[in-house]
Amino acid sequence: RAKSSATLSCEVFDAEMHARAVERLSLETDLRRALSRDEFSLVYQPIVSLRTGAMVGLEALLRWDHPLRGRISPADFVGVAEETGIILPLGVWVLNAACAQLAEWRREFRDARIALSVNLSAKQLGQRDLVDVIRAALRDTGLDPRHLKLEITESAIIDNPGSAGAMLRQLKEIGIQVQMDDFGTGYSSLSSLHTLPLDGLKIDRSFVSRVPGEPATTQMVATIATLAHGLGLAVIAEGVETVEQMELVRSLNCEYAQGYMISRPLDPEGIRALLAEQRRW
Ligand code: C2E
Ligand code: MG
Ligand code: MG
Ligand code: MG
Repeated sequence: RAKSSATLSCEVFDAEMHARAVERLSLETDLRRALSRDEFSLVYQPIVSLRTGAMVGLEALLRWDHPLRGRISPADFVGVAEETGIILPLGVWVLNAACAQLAEWRREFRDARIALSVNLSAKQLGQRDLVDVIRAALRDTGLDPRHLKLEITESAIIDNPGSAGAMLRQLKEIGIQVQMDDFGTGYSSLSSLHTLPLDGLKIDRSFVSRVPGEPATTQMVATIATLAHGLGLAVIAEGVETVEQMELVRSLNCEYAQGYMISRPLDPEGIRALLAEQRRW
């Protein structure tokens, strides 16, 4: 007997939900094994000074090479890693690996004045022993705390209303710099900017990608830069892809830029080559 279309679509829906649940479960299982199987790596994206054109920093960006699915972007697994708690050991791994790599480059290229930026998730910001974890990473790798910058998002601050401020102040005391990432995409925005001990603000790529074409967005970027400077924060423009975008953010006195126009994230060999040739932009 033929099934009604309602029954049929219900079954299709169930099958889809089931497939998604299975998929999610397998991602979770694979993620739990990935650390011990050494499937994570870091790529590094250059950050340049808009005043001198020199590379002054690197943002460490996480990659997962899944044995069957190939390279998976953090957008597709950081959420699951946060929900399952895997982000905590994974975050420790990222901090240690990135600090070790920068310490090595700073030993090899003594003239290079590069800092390292590491992304922190909301879950990590709520981790009681985060400061100890970071202290240990610096001690074990010999990296100077002044060369480490931590990137946090507005939502990470919202998720940790009680502890975020105290945590950031402890990090500042050690000499680490803290930057607000993806600024303009979250909810907290203005209030946290002047109450938290921040050093810099990264203007989100979604704004930068629409300048100078969209006048209203250009006005927003100009206003964010003025606001940040008024509060004593350095401004980093994210996602700079064109010469026009680079010129615009330079004309707004943004201190730093990062984006495909300058360089895509590179593996350590690629960064070594840039350091060796003392490349300028
Ligand atoms: P994010 O911290 O805002 O990092 C910048 C992202 O923009 C990176 O994506 C980078 O590859 C990309 N990007 C840079 N320049 C351009 C450009 O000119 N055009 C375009 N279209 N994209 C550009 P990625 O590596 O896929 O990382 C995505 C997000 O995943 C990061 O955004 C960050 O929130 C998160 N993430 C990455 N690594 C880590 C990590 O180690 N820990 C945590 N908790 N999150 C991480
Ligand atoms: Mg970031
Ligand atoms: Mg960002
Ligand atoms: Mg972003």
